[in-house]
Amino acid sequence: MRKKLVAGNWKMHGSLQQNAALLEQVKAGVAGLVCDVVVCPPYPYLAQVQALLSGSAVAWGAQSLSEHAAGAYTAEVSASMLQEFGCRYVLVGHSERRALYGETDAMIAAKFVAAQKVGLVPVLCVGETLAERESGLTADVVARQLSAVLAAAGVSTLGAAVVAYEPVWAIGTGVTASPQQAQEVHAAIRRQVAALDVAVANNLRILYGGSVKPQSAAELFGQADVDGGLIGGAALVADDFLAICRAAN
Ligand code: PEP
Repeated sequence: MRKKLVAGNWKMHGSLQQNAALLEQVKAGVAGLVCDVVVCPPYPYLAQVQALLSGSAVAWGAQSLSEHAAGAYTAEVSASMLQEFGCRYVLVGHSERRALYGETDAMIAAKFVAAQKVGLVPVLCVGETLAERESGLTADVVARQLSAVLAAAGVSTLGAAVVAYEPVWAIGTGVTASPQQAQEVHAAIRRQVAALDVAVANNLRILYGGSVKPQSAAELFGQADVDGGLIGGAALVADDFLAICRAAN
């Protein structure tokens, strides 16, 4: 039985004051839940998050990382730096990174490898655009994005990783994939991994992301291959985020 996981992606939101209130509420609200709960703030707030969440049931992570270990890469942040701030997880390949910052499948695979090198758990984000879905390319696109990591890192590395299926057309749009649409893609991801290693596939947590709200969470998380959620907008509202965590419980 895979333990459910709910991760909040704060994107470029927050302030020291807002974060403190949100984190206190989340910390108190997760007491007694058995699912894993993670928050991913912007880099500058990692020290604050570490100070406020250390010793609690809530883990934290970053929203990206450099594929390089160190060097002349202005504005970049390395895996070992994230580790120094207690991160356990790191998102790689979020669609906003792919679309707005030109991250390629190859770069994302390199980031995945860099994260695992220091023991961080990469949350590999995959998903198709609306145009790709409407052209019947969903399965191909998701398989290609996953293949890039499988080729670079090997299937066994998914034993210490998480995959998040995030259809681009559902991120921040208020349009959620139907539970059936999500399940179909999640099952395809698991089949692709199972073709290489059945045990890794069976243990792999595959999250759904894209406008998950308290009202839609339970049915999505009730699908056989949906192991929790990657939550954007609703992760900034403690009551909503906690309701989603409870739906995963
Ligand atoms: C995300 O940022 O990964 C995301 C899923 O955002 P939202 O929940 O706002 O669609």
